[in-house]
Amino acid sequence: MDSLAKADPEIKEQLDNELKRQQSKLELIASENIVSKAVMEAQGSVLTNKYAEGYPGKRYYGGCECVDVVEQIAIDRAKKLFGAGYANVQPHSGAQANMAVFFALLQPGDTVMGMNLTDGGHLTHGSPVNMSGKYFKIVPYGVDKETEQIDYDALEKQAQECKPKMIVAGASAYARILDFPRLADIAHKVGAYLMVDIAHIAGLVAAGLHPSPVPYADVVTTTTHKTLRGPRGGLILCKDEEFGKQFNKSVFPGIQGGPLMHVIAAKAVALGEALKPEFKEYQQQILKNAKVLADTLMKDGFRIVTGGTDNHLMLVDLRSKNITGKEAQNLLDEVGITANRNTIPFEPLSPFVTSGLRLGSPALTTRGFKEDDMKEVADIIALVLDNPTKEEAKAEARKRVEALCKKYPLYE
Ligand code: PLP
Repeated sequence: MDSLAKADPEIKEQLDNELKRQQSKLELIASENIVSKAVMEAQGSVLTNKYAEGYPGKRYYGGCECVDVVEQIAIDRAKKLFGAGYANVQPHSGAQANMAVFFALLQPGDTVMGMNLTDGGHLTHGSPVNMSGKYFKIVPYGVDKETEQIDYDALEKQAQECKPKMIVAGASAYARILDFPRLADIAHKVGAYLMVDIAHIAGLVAAGLHPSPVPYADVVTTTTHKTLRGPRGGLILCKDEEFGKQFNKSVFPGIQGGPLMHVIAAKAVALGEALKPEFKEYQQQILKNAKVLADTLMKDGFRIVTGGTDNHLMLVDLRSKNITGKEAQNLLDEVGITANRNTIPFEPLSPFVTSGLRLGSPALTTRGFKEDDMKEVADIIALVLDNPTKEEAKAEARKRVEALCKKYPLYE
């Protein structure tokens, strides 16, 4: 069969362009990472040809003897890594993992508490434009105006008033440690399930650098492609195997058809990498790098929401610099820094404009960046955002970005 270059030069050209983009830009999107060549090899493999509806040993198709082994290895590694009694590695994405949990534990119309999108929650935790918000009665919770952190007393009061059937914890833009024992206590006191979505912090949890929700929550969901550094996909975990089994039916045939076996193979490889001691060192460096980035930005006159970070990400409040999130994102794009605008708590602007910028350290840490490099990244960001109309400043920033990219080559 023809190679991609021969069969489809149009697509091949864009793949080459994307590789160059990743090699020549600094990736600061907190939800992105750079997978190993081994993960990519597994994903781009013959397993994409295989139908395997069902679960290992109980398939609706023949010829599943190899993929059965692969999926069982992925399940076993996920359980070991997170200290879980149950794992389902089939969700195609984080959103699918969350949807499977909602449909397993709830009836349409049930009350669910989830974190506000503007305060850091995810669309799938109850946004009105998402299935979660359309099918369930959502009572959103947020952060305290002063501390910009979750006020657990206020959350408890809200839960006692609305008596939810489930509380969803976890976020896409929250830089502080989550108190899982307290969340479980609140949920269980009002007779609710606690679901924790660790999509962003999964790598930190796996490495023991963020407390694990697995012993406390009824169910834990995650993506596999953020700090966990695997292929794009989802995962469901429970401490209790018996309780967990219901999620199998909910994923297949509930909301999905055939599993993506090539992605499951890549998940297995990434989970294997995460079980190695080097992974803990990587996660430790993610934390150090995020802290230096936040500290240096604060020295450069930026306000960081909550005054810093405990994890891999931070929210920069741009209001003191008289610039919007949208403008900052575009300016940084011009010099080769990729980030995303983000709402900040009590956001005064629309979500398309925003007052904030979300930055994360996982991808640069994978490239090999250390604390001094992160200081340089923060200073480049300050140079650009402090001089939005000065072409010389942008030219200097571009050169400094180029030097960092050369220092840490990617996929060579
Ligand atoms: N949950 C959280 C907390 C997330 O941040 C995200 C994605 O950003 C998701 C779920 C959804 O993951 P996916 O994009 O794989 O559907």
